[in-house]
Order: sequence, then C-alpha cells, then structure tokens
Amino acid sequence: MPTLTKSAYIRFLECPRYMWLHEHRREEVEKKDDPQREWNFEQGNKVDVFARKLFPGGVHVRSFDEHGAEDTRRRIEEGEKCLFQATAMAEGLLAMADIIRLDPIGKTWDIYEVKGTTEVKDEHLYDVWFQKTAFEKAGYKVGKLFVVHVNKKYMLHGEVDPSGFFIMEEVTKEAAVIGEEVKATVEKAKRILALPDAPTQEDAPCSCSPKTGPCPAHCFPGLPEQSVFSLRRLPVKKARALYDKGIKHLCDVPVDYPLNDAQAF
Ligand code: SF4
Repeated sequence: MPTLTKSAYIRFLECPRYMWLHEHRREEVEKKDDPQREWNFEQGNKVDVFARKLFPGGVHVRSFDEHGAEDTRRRIEEGEKCLFQATAMAEGLLAMADIIRLDPIGKTWDIYEVKGTTEVKDEHLYDVWFQKTAFEKAGYKVGKLFVVHVNKKYMLHGEVDPSGFFIMEEVTKEAAVIGEEVKATVEKAKRILALPDAPTQEDAPCSCSPKTGPCPAHCFPGLPEQSVFSLRRLPVKKARALYDKGIKHLCDVPVDYPLNDAQAF
C-alpha cells in the first residue's frame, strides 16, 4: 500500500485524480522543467530556513522517509527538544514537520508549520492537522499547533530580525474544528492512492477549471481558446457538464441552452 504524504493529501483536497496522477504517473501532470515551481520551492526553502532562527538550539534531521522517522526518534531519545524537518511515519501516513518543539510543562510536542504567506489560510489548518495525525499515530503526544507566517507590517531596518519578520500564530482550536473531516478524508485519500488506475470523474468528482486547475492538459486536451469555460459567469460545474457532453467550443453551445444576456452576447 503506498504511503500518503502531506503533499499528496493536500493535492487530494484539490482533486483526488490529480493526487493519484501525481503519485503514479507524475510525468502526465507535472512539467519537467517548470521555473515557477522551482522558484516557489526555493523561496519556500529560504523562508523555512530563516524561520529556524526563531528556535535556537534546534537540530536539523537531514534524512527522509523511514530513515527520517528513525533519526527523529533517535534524536528525541538522545534528549533533543527541538527538531527541524522531523519525520513521523505510521499507518500509511508520512509527515515531515518544519519544526517540532517539546513543551517542557505538558511534555507534549508542539508543531510549527512555516508558510511564506502573510496570514493563516484554510489549507494550512488541513496541513497542520495532517501532521498532528501522523505524529500521533507514530506514538508522539502532540500539544499545540502553530503556523509561522510572514508579518506584513514588518518594516525593514538594517538586517532582517526573524522575531519581527515572522508571526507565530497558534491554530490549535481552529484546526480542531476540521479534525473529523481530516480523519475521514485521509482515509479516503489512502483508498484512492491505492487504486490500480486513476479514479474517474464519477469516482472522485472534481470541478476544477482548466484556467486555474493544476493540470488542465490532462482532463482538457485540445481545449479551444474560445471554450465553454470562457462563458462569463457560467459556474465551472455547468461548463464542465457541457464539456463532458462533448460541447467544447462556444459555438457548439446549443441554441436552447439557458444563457443570460451577458453570456449570450
Ligand atoms: S484537470 Fe482538474 S479534474 Fe483533471 S486531474 Fe487535473 S485537477 Fe483533477
């Protein structure tokens, strides 16, 4: 059974088929050379590394997957109280937390996820709760959850001060609200990931738009420039229904299809 990573889970939330393809036939949904993806990755890495300055004495776990999980456990047994890139692997889940730190009072592990955004977004809550789930399944007691994000009010005066540049926002309560949903969707994601073939639109409906979806070439090959998705204010779901019936070009929309004045124009 394949392992569900946090990144795969976040892709599942976007579209189950996208997750499956990314895990099993990546070349179909990811460009080989994608400067934007590389740039995002580099920037994310820089923010992540800079945030570690907020945790002096933290130790970087440099190995991955099962080795990362073993090294994380070993470091903790050796008495480390703050780890960067700590890994937990259990029951088909794999999570790598940006930072974990032992709460000396509760003897629980607080999890910190570093984001380059200037606020907490909904997807970050799914992200941290997934981490918590994986660490708990691996036997760790998890305490508080934090998103470390950029302080938009920060004014640069000389050298960048990490304690002013970042805000550590506790999101334990907010994330708990979606706890049950994460539990259910994680199990569904694991089932879909284990399928021998990509799920169909019926198995795992997705109403992505080819304009904003992550892999338009896969489900919308040969989409004309003037497609049904260009119809103003037509919900993506309706455009997709037309597309699935083979109606791709604006000119192919049946004359009796209900359109408002702006769309008909
Ligand atoms: S194009 Fe959309 S529906 Fe198709 S796999 Fe990609 S995200 Fe999913």
